[in-house]
Amino acid sequence: MRSCEDGEEAQVLVVGAGPAGSAAALHLARAGVEVVLLEKSRFPRDKVCGDGLTPRGVQQLVRMGIDVSAPGWMRNRGMRWVCGGRQVDIDWPRLGSHPDFGLTRSRRDFDELLASQAAAAGARLRTGVRVTGPVTDKAGRITGVSALAGPEKRPVSFRAPLVVAADGASARTAVMMGLERDQRRQIATAARRYYQCEARSCDPYLELWADLTCSRTGRDLPGYGWVFPLGDGRINVGLGAMPHRAHGPVDLRATMGQWLPRLPREWGVDEDSAASPWRSAALPMGFNRHPQYQRGLMLVGDSAGMVSPWSGEGIGQAMEAAEVAAETIALALARPEGAGREHALRQYPAEIQRRWGRHYRLGNLVGDLILGRHGYRPILHPRVMASPTLLRTLARLLTHVADEPPRDTIDAVLHTLFRAVPRSRPPARRTPPL
Ligand SMILES: Cc1cc2nc3c(=O)[nH]c(=O)nc-3n(C[C@H](O)[C@H](O)[C@H](O)COP(=O)(O)OP(=O)(O)OC[C@H]3O[C@@H](n4cnc5c(N)ncnc54)[C@H](O)[C@@H]3O)c2cc1C
Repeated sequence: MRSCEDGEEAQVLVVGAGPAGSAAALHLARAGVEVVLLEKSRFPRDKVCGDGLTPRGVQQLVRMGIDVSAPGWMRNRGMRWVCGGRQVDIDWPRLGSHPDFGLTRSRRDFDELLASQAAAAGARLRTGVRVTGPVTDKAGRITGVSALAGPEKRPVSFRAPLVVAADGASARTAVMMGLERDQRRQIATAARRYYQCEARSCDPYLELWADLTCSRTGRDLPGYGWVFPLGDGRINVGLGAMPHRAHGPVDLRATMGQWLPRLPREWGVDEDSAASPWRSAALPMGFNRHPQYQRGLMLVGDSAGMVSPWSGEGIGQAMEAAEVAAETIALALARPEGAGREHALRQYPAEIQRRWGRHYRLGNLVGDLILGRHGYRPILHPRVMASPTLLRTLARLLTHVADEPPRDTIDAVLHTLFRAVPRSRPPARRTPPL
């Protein structure tokens, strides 16, 4: 194995070993593609997150060969919505196409596990390597990346005809290749903290609070609060907001300060039981960066703004898009270099659109009109809270699970709803394809 100083060469470079990058590297390696996975941190490392996975995300873990029945995983059987003095538990649907359970695991463990799985599959994992920018040829096509390696920040470069940008919300690689964020799409922010809480750590539901109000203004939080059990004595407590311009900014920390005293006293969630500092981060959502493939660069996960505008989930989306990216690349590399290969690579955004396009378009619209202004309270109207069928429909809508072809009435309703959403037009290409 060559060391970093040599400037490694591979068929594909993946920048960032979060869920998107590790999943991409794993699927590429499994397909026999030579892949180098570059990560600026060293594992284990923390990542600000709610640590929750719904069934679609679990499905991706299973597809990656992760043993989700091993110790360390906490299973959940559904979501619990708390709103207007009521709370209802909604079990995940029993579908043929998705698992009927969700999972939680702290990202400190989760990301290391995925990166190790990618390395075990044959990806060359290089940690402590901070990518500083793309290297391009005269035509502007990416041919590798430059980086600083190790604590001494040794300049190194890596070469490959294809690069997967999986460097998260900063999207540094994409930005340096000229791919700007779509300013029409809101960026959500979310904050979380761990607490020791034996009373709730093994709760079988992901708990979501929809009736939180913003500090100072008293307006509805354009988001929700969560209490996710980790099964190891801790819970992950946080809240996220995606304020529309018409709503005004949200002080997450102050809002959290108002919410926590509403949690049952016997849970003991207070400063004394806090097991970490408060940390917040951005959630780029609703496909806010385009094109997802251009000039040898493929965007996956947060770097492409793939967080769901419905729920704020991004882990499952990152892993699923990574699998699509890897499959697309493997098929493209089987063709000779040139127009045919480029054509194959451009199937990636097309497949992403086919899977999620309409769900995200509708989610962006609902986000603009309702969630970003009034949060989830209008959706969790008392009539909805009182109707198990409506709640089950809502759960499938938020987490994007339905059997295809439809297995029951809820599936049929959701398919009809999505078919009514116009397809998105392919975004205008800013540079000619190579
Ligand atoms: C508070 C909060 C709560 C959330 N809760 C949930 C949740 O419960 N469920 C859910 O599904 N989603 C949740 N999300 C969203 C989720 O965290 C992200 O969508 C997900 O992490 C995206 O994965 P990714 O691999 O694209 O990016 P990341 O997880 O951000 O990974 C990017 C990786 O790239 C590395 N990197 C960055 N720059 C460089 C560089 N220059 N060189 C080399 N490496 C680099 C980083 O170190 C990191 O390892 C939450 C987000 C926030 C902020």
